[in-house]
Amino acid sequence: MSRFFDNKLRTVEAYVPGEQPKNVGELIKLNTNESPFPPSPAVIRAVDSAAVRDLRLYPDPTCASLANALSQQFGVEPSQVTFGNGSDELLAFCFHALCGNGAAFADITYGFYKVFAKMFSVAAEIVPLREDYTLAVEDYARCAGTVFIANPNAPTGIALKRGQIEELLQNKERLVIVDEAYVDFGADSAVPLLSKYDNLLVIGTFSKSRQLAGARLGYAVGSEELIADLNTLRFSFNPYNINRLTLLAGEAAVQDAPYFDYCRKLIIENRQYVSEKLRGLGFRVLPSMTNFVFAGPQEGLSGKEYYEALRSRNILVRYFDQDRLREFVRITIGTTDQMDALISATKDILGVEDYDCDY
Ligand code: PMP
Repeated sequence: MSRFFDNKLRTVEAYVPGEQPKNVGELIKLNTNESPFPPSPAVIRAVDSAAVRDLRLYPDPTCASLANALSQQFGVEPSQVTFGNGSDELLAFCFHALCGNGAAFADITYGFYKVFAKMFSVAAEIVPLREDYTLAVEDYARCAGTVFIANPNAPTGIALKRGQIEELLQNKERLVIVDEAYVDFGADSAVPLLSKYDNLLVIGTFSKSRQLAGARLGYAVGSEELIADLNTLRFSFNPYNINRLTLLAGEAAVQDAPYFDYCRKLIIENRQYVSEKLRGLGFRVLPSMTNFVFAGPQEGLSGKEYYEALRSRNILVRYFDQDRLREFVRITIGTTDQMDALISATKDILGVEDYDCDY
């Protein structure tokens, strides 16, 4: 740390992203909840050499074409959506600008919330999940600050129903920000509630269900006023936060609904498949509505030991060295072949005969 670093920021503990290994070709990479599938063929066509040549020009700071496409899908006005360089950037704007009364979020949830609260000196009320890792909305009744809910939650994968989000919205003085990074894998979106509640902001991403983690594209949907606030931040920080290629990729991805549905259906099927197999091997698998499962091996094997044993078999999953999470690992749902390899390796680790492979 240099002596020039602002005192306010000296105690910030930066977010640690999942490992992005160099030898990715040799690994089955199930650690950062990316899609195992490539972007839609329409995306690959849109980002062509003409688009690359146009990189000499700045992108459209209003993201008008993409906003039109996404707003139609959500049944809202284009002025009700805006975009971030990943949803992480939009979440940062929310902590920066929309937490005048502080913030409230779960003890076990997306790790970035805590980092942003510290970065922007937001007083954070941490609300513990219940014993079974579920979130009880009544536990937020007395919280005055902006409520951040990852729905489905990460790394548990557990989702709230739309009615539960609606309960949180009854206190109209308080803003509720629902982070729907994983919503497309079977959970209820809160977007339909926007017509009734102006104290709701929904944040989403193209990183998971639209196969564009590397393009960095997130969105926010909310009242025109809330979106104008976020745009004030965008334009005061970096009006060109979405680059030209990402704008094209995003729009093509939104327009290819059949591919979107095809990929998420496969992920949901593979999630059910791997959850059943792991439960059959004695694992505790939390009920996931995401593109990952949070799974704990049977007694005698800790989350860390399982993580390391998989790693030595070239399978990379995510382990969190944190209270209440140590007994689990988070496994991204991949292709059927990748899930079979994971189950095979798990049987090997547990010393269970792999009949599936022999017969
Ligand atoms: N919210 C949650 C709950 C996440 O798990 C992630 C991915 N790490 C994000 C937001 C951020 O996603 P991105 O910045 O790639 O849009």
